Amino acid sequence: MGLFSRRKTVFVDSDILVIGGGMAGCGATYESRYWGRDLKVVCVEKANIERSGAVAQGLYAINCYMGMQWDENQPEDHVRYARNDLMGLVREDLGYDIARHVDATVHKFEEWGLPIMKDPETGRYQREGKWQIMIHGESYKPIVAEAARKAANEVHNRIMVTHLLMDKTKPNRVAGAVGFNVRNGDFYVFRAKAVIVCAGGASHIYKPRAVGEGMGRTWYAPWSSASAYALPILAGAKMTQMENRIVLTRFKDGYGPVGAYFLHLKTYTENAYGEEYESTWYEHTKSLVGDYVDRHPVPTCLRNHALLEELKAGGGPIRMVTKEAFQDPHKETVGWENFLGMTIGQAVVWASQNIDPKHTNPELTTSEPYVMGSHATCSGAWASGPTDYAPAEYQWGYNRMMTVDGLFGAGDTIGGTAHKFSSGSFTEGRIAGKAAVNYVNDLGNDPPQVSEQEYQDLEKVVFQPLETYRVGRNEIVAGTVSPSYMLPLNGLQRLEKLMDEYVGGISAHYTTNEPLLTRGLELLAMLKEDLNYLGAEDLHQLQRAWELHHRVLASESVTQHTMFRTETRWPGYYYRADHPKLDDADWHCFTLSRFHKDTGEWEMEKAPVYHIVD
Ligand SMILES: Cc1cc2nc3c(=O)[nH]c(=O)nc-3n(C[C@H](O)[C@H](O)[C@H](O)COP(=O)(O)OP(=O)(O)OC[C@H]3O[C@@H](n4cnc5c(N)ncnc54)[C@H](O)[C@@H]3O)c2cc1C
Repeated sequence: MGLFSRRKTVFVDSDILVIGGGMAGCGATYESRYWGRDLKVVCVEKANIERSGAVAQGLYAINCYMGMQWDENQPEDHVRYARNDLMGLVREDLGYDIARHVDATVHKFEEWGLPIMKDPETGRYQREGKWQIMIHGESYKPIVAEAARKAANEVHNRIMVTHLLMDKTKPNRVAGAVGFNVRNGDFYVFRAKAVIVCAGGASHIYKPRAVGEGMGRTWYAPWSSASAYALPILAGAKMTQMENRIVLTRFKDGYGPVGAYFLHLKTYTENAYGEEYESTWYEHTKSLVGDYVDRHPVPTCLRNHALLEELKAGGGPIRMVTKEAFQDPHKETVGWENFLGMTIGQAVVWASQNIDPKHTNPELTTSEPYVMGSHATCSGAWASGPTDYAPAEYQWGYNRMMTVDGLFGAGDTIGGTAHKFSSGSFTEGRIAGKAAVNYVNDLGNDPPQVSEQEYQDLEKVVFQPLETYRVGRNEIVAGTVSPSYMLPLNGLQRLEKLMDEYVGGISAHYTTNEPLLTRGLELLAMLKEDLNYLGAEDLHQLQRAWELHHRVLASESVTQHTMFRTETRWPGYYYRADHPKLDDADWHCFTLSRFHKDTGEWEMEKAPVYHIVD
């Protein structure tokens, strides 16, 4: 009796299951319906797609738009840009594929009601930078979600997906997923012919700068909990570039975006003494990365690097000079609106700290590292490329299918393709949706079969933290530390501390080496053992428990990749102190990993980088 007998099990059958209804998930849902008129398309989301994912609060700019209708940029230009920014290593086939379709996506957004700012003189979209266009984007996510809602047969909100299900006849084929309703605790079994993982990136795997009272204040969304990586990793999918975790330069304490300030308001930075400092680090940086420092624009990581070196040399704080730009009332308005549509918290922080950027130049700082696949970084799953463009070695049948049959991904989930942002993530979702429809249509009379045993076993595993807590809670009368269980928050803080100290977080100045990584892996292994004793007092904590599981597995992947790549490819994102220089002779390649669930071993390999665009 007890816990398991009261719970309802809900079965949901579909042709295509989309996990995560953020930008990529909405794109995948929309496009699956377009090509698969008669297919059953289901979207499952742990929050509510109306306001879920990294775009929940809105955005002020769409960061990936070619402007091909006005001959502003071509897809090849975007590939060159992303390749340059990622120090030479991107999947050019995947990037090109997104770039050639992304404008059509943005035009759909406008058709659906997203207000895009126009240049009054030319009538073109108002550019913030070469790739960015400005929007009134507070309602960006609800607008996009409406299209997905209308396209899906069913949207299941408030279901946290914990595991994928595998086909009982073919071990390398996906057959669905399981999860639980975070409001009523029902267990969900999703049986599907194809699954598209669109579960966003990962915050809170490294200790954030704000702890305690400000712990939820991170740059990337605090609910981005690495499911996008953990779900495929557990299913045996290969991952790529997981070491390429991103560090952002942002306004201090509120993580407010700086792009519009630099690009549109033409602000600049200076050190504590009012001096320009970036050029003083030029020779030093060149000695580490060679000609990459001369590229235009200067790669994001190298701009971080100069700031970090200046801070270490005692030149901090680094400030953005806003006082000049803010004398112009138009620019002042743009500066504030930039936050109000996207990061209201930054305006609140400034108000609370007596900072008016018209009179005070605000401080900048670098964030803790995040894992994602859609920004100036490209961690994620290793995916098959487009048939008309990808090199043969990058193709195993269906576009955006991982190395597991029937398992697709998009957005932050897919590795090797930086700079897709919101519009590119939606576009990649569309690409994956179309490919998944083809996959399902080609299955014929050979659909995957779900093993009853597998989901019944998983049900016990999924709800175990509730049981562990119920049994162990009477051993203590107060406090949160128990001899029999660990609460998710304690586990999270342990993870963040060890990633911070051993795998190059903020307190280690993003620096690590082989001995540190080795110890980090040992501590991760111990943490994984203790995850068996997670205790959850309610469904909310049960969700936290599974988010922690996913974060820990993704962290292990990051650590393994960081160990494997014996060079410092992206100074400013992280440093291998034992291999401080970029090493193009040995490491102009992708890193790939595969986790073997039965043995707990990670298999690492290199994959070639093909430069398709000259
Ligand atoms: C602070 C910030 C600023 C940004 N600024 C810009 C900008 O100005 N312009 C721009 O174009 N882009 C910007 N981006 C990037 C953009 O938001 C992302 O590229 C995009 O949202 C990625 O899409 P995604 O679908 O992969 O992830 P998301 O949009 O985050 O969606 C992931 C979804 O998966 C759900 N999910 C996660 N785990 C599970 C699970 N286990 N079960 C069920 N559901 C799950 C989440 O709730 C979420 O809805 C910004 C991002 C951030 C965080």
